[in-house]
Amino acid sequence: MELFVEERALKYTLTQNILKKFPNYTIISNYEEYKWENLPEEELITLGKRKLFLIHYLGDFLKPCPGTKNYICCGYKIFHIGEGCPLDCSYCILQIYLNRPGLKIWANLLEDGLPFLERYLEESKRKNLPLRVGTGEFTDSLALEAITGISKSLIDLWKNFDPFALLELKTKISLSENFFSDIVGDRRVIFAWSVNTDRIIRNEERGTASLEARIKSAELAIKKGFSVAFHFDPIVLYPEAEEEYPALLETLLRRIPFHSIAWISFGTLRYPKALKDIAEKRFPQTKIYSSEFIEGLDKKKRYFIEIRKKLYKAFSKLIRETMNEITYYYCMESERIWKEILNANITKNEELISRLDRVVKKLCFL
Ligand code: SF4
Repeated sequence: MELFVEERALKYTLTQNILKKFPNYTIISNYEEYKWENLPEEELITLGKRKLFLIHYLGDFLKPCPGTKNYICCGYKIFHIGEGCPLDCSYCILQIYLNRPGLKIWANLLEDGLPFLERYLEESKRKNLPLRVGTGEFTDSLALEAITGISKSLIDLWKNFDPFALLELKTKISLSENFFSDIVGDRRVIFAWSVNTDRIIRNEERGTASLEARIKSAELAIKKGFSVAFHFDPIVLYPEAEEEYPALLETLLRRIPFHSIAWISFGTLRYPKALKDIAEKRFPQTKIYSSEFIEGLDKKKRYFIEIRKKLYKAFSKLIRETMNEITYYYCMESERIWKEILNANITKNEELISRLDRVVKKLCFL
């Protein structure tokens, strides 16, 4: 991995911490002026996964989850720690952020980002408003943790600050005993794994941990006193999908104690049109884009509703058996899916938000 530091980012604590571990780096005037190699875009994306930029960030540290228009969204807040991911999934939306290749970490996160988050958490607690905060929207929450230590700073903040909020760290890597050696367990901190079937992980998720390693990591996180969550996202259509996905849910339910699961979500494959071209160039063996799709109300491609229903229905027996003990939700789905699959009246964002906020209350007042 090559490390580049903006001149104006040198002074920050996070930069100094990282430079102690990685003394070989290049100073650049700023990320925007960095001269990228003259390569086709698909190669530039791959190259960008080996270049880490420490940037003085001037944007918003806290953002609402972008969600998607016309579908029901969970009202999550994203604490923005950086952009780009060293892992490489064929369906990753970040591939179409072509104008901004590379791995970017906000160097001023400890001086500017954390105090901003603290103020926000304080204000929400004062108003008695439950919050769910995550970092895994524009990057994997933990893939660069060994370099940055950002998630551990956030875990410390939760411990010291006692907010009325959950912190979700979403990842596809595995965690070892060593990772947990210097942090204290906290039920309000959720280690969340995006899970998929072995064949999708093998074929579509380069550089990520195996399914077994993710499950073992979740067991370890629980042993250390944290909560866990699982995201079946994206659920991909293939001939054995209706057997293999529920089998995966069954395995999780057998191995993970229900009371340690904050939530489990489901979302079928969806993508903006532009993603297919670039992803097929970068993953010539992928077949995930060869199904038939419709353009959804949000202009994203998604499976026909009957196919989505078929995929979701495959889980419904297991969900029904456990839904009094586990919170399930669909990510960016229509009211019709909620009604027809779970017989639940979730017709607008607020209803889903209140379902998930109940988990915040439960884990914060344990
Ligand atoms: S782990 Fe997430 S952020 Fe990283 S490449 Fe895969 S989908 Fe993208």
